[in-house]
Amino acid sequence: MSHKGIKYRLYDNGADIKQRLFVLNILTMQIVLVVTLIEILITDKFSLDAMLLFAMMLSILFAGIVSVKSGHIRLGALFIATILSFGYFPVTFFKGGGINGDAPLWFIYNIFFVGILLSGKVKYLFLSAQVLSAVACYVTGYLKPEWIVPNTDLMAHVYSLTALILISIAISSMIGLEIRLFIRENKLSEERKKEIEALNASQNRFFSSMSHEIRTPINTIIGLNEMILREDISDEVAEDAVNIRSAGTMLLNLINDILDMSKVQSGKMVIAEEPYSIGNMLSEIVGMLWNRANEKKLEFHVNVAPDIPYELIGDEIRIKQILLNVLNNSIKYTKEGSVSLSVQCERKDDNNAVIIFTVKDTGIGIKKEDIPYLFTAFKRVDENETRHIEGTGLGLSIVKQFLDLMGGKVNVNSIYTQGSTFIIEIPQKINGDKLIGDVDFEKSRTIAKLKEYHQKFEAPDARVLVVDDNELNLMVTSKLLRGTKVKIDCVSSGEEALKKTLNVPYNVILLDHLMPEMDGIECIRKIRSQIGGLCRECSIVALTANTGEENKALYVKEGFDGYLLKPVTGETLENEVLRHIPQELVHVIGDSQEILEETISWMRSKQIKKKVIVTTESVADIPDELIEKYNIPILPHKVSTPEGLFKDGSEIDTRGVLSYMEDKEHTIKPQAPNVKEHEDFFASQLNRANNLVHMSISSKVENSGCPKAIEAARAFNNVTVIDTGHLSSGQGLMVVEACKLA
Ligand code: ADP
Repeated sequence: MSHKGIKYRLYDNGADIKQRLFVLNILTMQIVLVVTLIEILITDKFSLDAMLLFAMMLSILFAGIVSVKSGHIRLGALFIATILSFGYFPVTFFKGGGINGDAPLWFIYNIFFVGILLSGKVKYLFLSAQVLSAVACYVTGYLKPEWIVPNTDLMAHVYSLTALILISIAISSMIGLEIRLFIRENKLSEERKKEIEALNASQNRFFSSMSHEIRTPINTIIGLNEMILREDISDEVAEDAVNIRSAGTMLLNLINDILDMSKVQSGKMVIAEEPYSIGNMLSEIVGMLWNRANEKKLEFHVNVAPDIPYELIGDEIRIKQILLNVLNNSIKYTKEGSVSLSVQCERKDDNNAVIIFTVKDTGIGIKKEDIPYLFTAFKRVDENETRHIEGTGLGLSIVKQFLDLMGGKVNVNSIYTQGSTFIIEIPQKINGDKLIGDVDFEKSRTIAKLKEYHQKFEAPDARVLVVDDNELNLMVTSKLLRGTKVKIDCVSSGEEALKKTLNVPYNVILLDHLMPEMDGIECIRKIRSQIGGLCRECSIVALTANTGEENKALYVKEGFDGYLLKPVTGETLENEVLRHIPQELVHVIGDSQEILEETISWMRSKQIKKKVIVTTESVADIPDELIEKYNIPILPHKVSTPEGLFKDGSEIDTRGVLSYMEDKEHTIKPQAPNVKEHEDFFASQLNRANNLVHMSISSKVENSGCPKAIEAARAFNNVTVIDTGHLSSGQGLMVVEACKLA
């Protein structure tokens, strides 16, 4: 039997730890055997006891090798433990000097061997048996000392030393091996973690590119289908087109759901904490669902307790998704009767409340035994009843995961065939003392009716450029806008777009993001800084299949004036274009004049950016009336006093400074805002305008903010800093003049 064979297993990373420890023990025993043999030869003690010990060690070694080779480690370990506990240890004890020999050391080894190599009940059985055997030896040795064969002094020392060396080598190698394995396992698990993270990342990349790729053809399907629906078509064709629309929407919802799932699972879903009006949110939800309920001839009731806070802080979008999912299910799984949504609030303290949404239907109901599986992804229950109803089984799973992330919960009560009730509780923060009061959700229903397509406006003199590398997308967008009569140019690359913007002053550019060669980001940068370009100030809207908050943030940062996600409906597209074209080019049509004006005035006040605004610092002497008239944003300088730092112009004024200095005979120091403060100021003002002209006090003055403003402006390509070369009053006059020009 080759020893090389079992030694190899010691280094075999694939072998389990017990097997390797066992091999280590066998190798130690091999040394013990050799040492025992040498002892016998040296001392010439071919006595029975010595032969017995030698035979035991030989059988241990033999059993060890056989069990390693045959893979019966446990059996081998049991056999060896038995020999050691009831043979080797007692024999060495009585024949080798009792407590003055090497037996106590073997006893320790024995315990270690069993402790490490056996497991379960057998291990404890053996440990107890060993202790009993040791106790028996010690007690007998004490009561019957004559039964112990004494060692000569020399032999006692030799035996004890050899045992000490052998056992410590065995034990320390075993522990060393364990530590090595532990370190290796740790390293392996670190590597695995990294692999899993990389896998997750690539899975996410896959999902988002899949979503992007699928959105593009769906855009064509839904867009062209909408064109068909707008035509004067037969009922049969209309029915087919409506079915195409619902299939397209369903496919889109599925993609959104899959994206959400992958985001939640990779821990990338972040729950927002922003103020929102729950009333507006509910109106929108009712608006979206009212028609669907109506089409199925279901009653739709909404009941909102008046003591709900007007404004809450939380993730409005996710809550809307949750409610839409559950309400949609109720409408989907109810043939007749009603669906109702009631909303209540349970106040925890002044700032916190739990909002309770109860969605009740008189639908097909859910069997008791199915309720636990409702929230499992891709699980659809009661397939006999629900097979013909479209769905993927993802909706409720997402609901549950969102609720978990928000610290909320959902309960389901259902009577099979009678109907179901979903009770959703979501903790939210309260913003302000205002209550929602009595809200009439009938209004939301009227809005819902208006959601049917009505062309709102015509603008034959407005010019729109659409940039997209996909020809079908270009066709869909231009067809969807056809009714508005805006002049549309379509190009399929950034380069072509730049040729157009050199010659045509467009009102709006609809720009795709992902395009080969020059992408949308590079393109917008070039349009904005194009020498001789006619569209440097024009509104540019991202029209892309790239979902996600991070993309939205990117577009805002890059100076896009809007963001539309493909597939886009005609209505959304029209609204967005309307938002950006000058009012004088718009002719209102149909009966939607009122809504249109409302939309325009709302959008103009909130969203329309100025081309250029003039800003300055608090050291420019401008009367308040003029600041108000021209709406001039002022960046305050600071005044440093022994009492602290004050913002000039708002926290302290010239008169205040002078009287402070007279009264207290203090010296004060003016201080211009630093580069970071300038940057923040410019960034916030750029929300209002595409370009900014900042008039700064003469750079020749001590403590002038001018160099800092110039430094900060480097971070933007649309901020121009003017060194007025003047002190306060001259600077003020120049600002007013600049405002007039702007
Ligand atoms: P689906 O896309 O199938 O609707 P969901 O995750 O939203 O997926 O729902 C899972 C299953 O729960 C559904 O397939 C349906 O069997 C059942 N279900 C959900 N809501 C209701 C309801 N209001 N009434 C009856 N059954 C429901």
